Amino acid sequence: TIPNSTSTSSKVRVIVRARPFLSQEIAAKNGNSICCISVLDRGSLSCNEEVAVYLKDPDTIRSECYQLDSFFGQEDESVSKIFYSEVNPLIPGIFHGRNATVFAYGATGSGKTYTMQSGWKFEEFTYLSESNGWTNITVVNFVYTGSEERPGLMPLAMSKILSICQSTGSTAEISYYEVYMDRCYDLLEVKTKEISILDDKDGQLHLKGLSRVPVNSMTEFQEIFSRGIQRRKVAHTGLNDVSSRSHGVLVISVSTLLGDDSKAALTGKLNLIDLAGNEDNRRTCNEGIRLLESAKINQSLFALSNVIHALNNNKPRVPYRESKLTRILQDSLGGTSHALMVACLNPGEYQESVHTVSLAARSRHI
Ligand code: ADP
Ligand code: MG
Repeated sequence: TIPNSTSTSSKVRVIVRARPFLSQEIAAKNGNSICCISVLDRGSLSCNEEVAVYLKDPDTIRSECYQLDSFFGQEDESVSKIFYSEVNPLIPGIFHGRNATVFAYGATGSGKTYTMQSGWKFEEFTYLSESNGWTNITVVNFVYTGSEERPGLMPLAMSKILSICQSTGSTAEISYYEVYMDRCYDLLEVKTKEISILDDKDGQLHLKGLSRVPVNSMTEFQEIFSRGIQRRKVAHTGLNDVSSRSHGVLVISVSTLLGDDSKAALTGKLNLIDLAGNEDNRRTCNEGIRLLESAKINQSLFALSNVIHALNNNKPRVPYRESKLTRILQDSLGGTSHALMVACLNPGEYQESVHTVSLAARSRHI
């Protein structure tokens, strides 16, 4: 049976996640690292905002306050908490043919990749179950060992989707690509391949020839996706660290048979996106290709923020056309789609955090 999915409004939730200080950061400050973030939740606010995030400049007495939908702190379980309270509710809709998108947004080093994909050690085992007339049921256990990184939103979502597929008979496929300087590269081909972006009659963009690989188990997912991650790291030889300067997009598509005789199927997809690090060019000294890259990144993040702002405020016109990224995602933002933006913060970086949270709060502003 397909799980019920309720709400149909297309608001985009905007939440904040602060990563903990890393051991080397604590060591560098002799244990005196100052956290620039503090939070008041709804219980302590008089208005109907969900949380108020305060950013304090450790060098001055300056402090700024931003309203957001939710805040996830520095404890180890924050990624799984985000999964259960924010991403999990988006999944049933995928089985009803709807689309959803989850973004990790923030500066380089703020924990985007950790939030989306990190350390996903798991055990998978299969047993024969009597329900449904003796079928094999596969169960995934994510295994934590003290020092291991925990699974991010990508493997958690994949695992949940696979387990629903088992009971609905739906099938799942993945695509994985990156958007770098307005170009798209398929990361699941044997050799990283540029794919052409085609304009459709209805104004949407299509990624022609993007590979879709069926996934039946977490073991298969790990094998396919790890190779993609590897390719992303080596795709642009000569340019260093492109992986944090491109948007990495994992798409999990689900096909569910309608169950009548027509053999027709509903397809829905979940886009999980590790966005390129946003940069404040007034503070970095980028030149040449770096400046160009940075301009492209900021342009696409600004366009994304404009789209989310328009959706959250029921604006009659949503400016999808301002960047390749928003045009590619046009079918997964707005309409009956749901989306979540996770603004990631490094607790030791005041200016950077202001930059990230102000754009996040501006996207949300209602
Ligand atoms: P980004 O992708 O935004 O550049 P990363 O995800 O690579 O940032 O995170 C930067 C560093 O912080 C990495 O070393 C990562 O392992 C670490 N990190 C992020 N979040 C956590 C967390 N919750 N617990 C422990 N380490 C974390
Ligand atoms: Mg990263």
